Amino acid sequence: MATFMFIINPKKKIPVSILFGLYIHSFLEGLPVAEVMSQGHNSGSFLGFKDSMILGLTLHNIPIAIAFVTMLKQLQIAKNSAILYLILFSLMAPLGVLCNELMKQAGVANIDYIIQISLGIVVGIFLHISTTIMFESSNNHKYNFAKMASILLGSIVAYLIS
Ligand SMILES: [Zn+2]
Repeated sequence: MATFMFIINPKKKIPVSILFGLYIHSFLEGLPVAEVMSQGHNSGSFLGFKDSMILGLTLHNIPIAIAFVTMLKQLQIAKNSAILYLILFSLMAPLGVLCNELMKQAGVANIDYIIQISLGIVVGIFLHISTTIMFESSNNHKYNFAKMASILLGSIVAYLIS
């Protein structure tokens, strides 16, 4: 994978760990979507589990895409390479959905178990990313009121809508 990236752009390098983390995260969270899609009809609630799952995935990928492109720009990655990285990123979740379907058709046992583990990893990665952004993005790892207030607000909103 690393050599592949150097071929795309021999001068500017992108941290492979960030790229891998992002892609794996996106791929893994695509896995359970196939499961909800195959369950078909939504329940009677305002947004069924199927819709809210896909909506949630779509919405949370918007800020991720913005942050990803911002990072690529800061690293001065060539525009063509940046577009390629973004396209690859957008393919990861659908690939996860496809992978789940293929596993089902191949008759892989314990798919539910695999999904439980992948969801655990997805949530873990997400917690790591968010805490890194929230607590380690400023100098000296300072806490400030705006950050704490937004964390509190986010927690309250999450509690209210769940
Ligand atoms: Zn995610």
